[in-house]
Amino acid sequence: MLSAIRLISEAAELAARRHNGMARKGRGNEPYINHLAEVANLLATATDGADAELIAAGWLHDVIEDTETTREELAQTFSERVASLVVECTDDMTLPKAERRRRQVVDAPKKSPGAKLIKIADKVSNIGARIHSDPSAAERADLADYTGWAEQVVAGCRGGNSWLDTTFDDMVRKARASL
Ligand code: ZN
Repeated sequence: MLSAIRLISEAAELAARRHNGMARKGRGNEPYINHLAEVANLLATATDGADAELIAAGWLHDVIEDTETTREELAQTFSERVASLVVECTDDMTLPKAERRRRQVVDAPKKSPGAKLIKIADKVSNIGARIHSDPSAAERADLADYTGWAEQVVAGCRGGNSWLDTTFDDMVRKARASL
């Protein structure tokens, strides 16, 4: 097993390489790695750095869904728990978007405590990226739609970390205020 710092450092590097060239949705077409850094850092703050595997999984949470990376590779390079956390955060991309969204809401309460924290941090980051200072009609509609759905997912993930719950609520308030 890698040391805590090596685990997180290796995860950040693999995520940077695998997501290279990808842009995230939302404001300014930021590099995808900015989203991963934000999620990992929210998890580090929420747990005060107590859970290195959780932070590593934060860096890696989209790597199976969006790149060629497999569960087996993550289990070998990191750990069985890191691999299973990432799998829990991976949507079945063969399904249409509406069904993937519906499943996230239904499946949220069944996730492990760690995966629930990753899901909340992911929604905080994704709502934040959709807040514009001078939104177009389409941007407003996208933010309202995304925020309403994210609230349903997060409703099934709450209770594991009060700071993260509050951070999500604050971000929702900020989003609504910008509409
Ligand atoms: Zn994500």
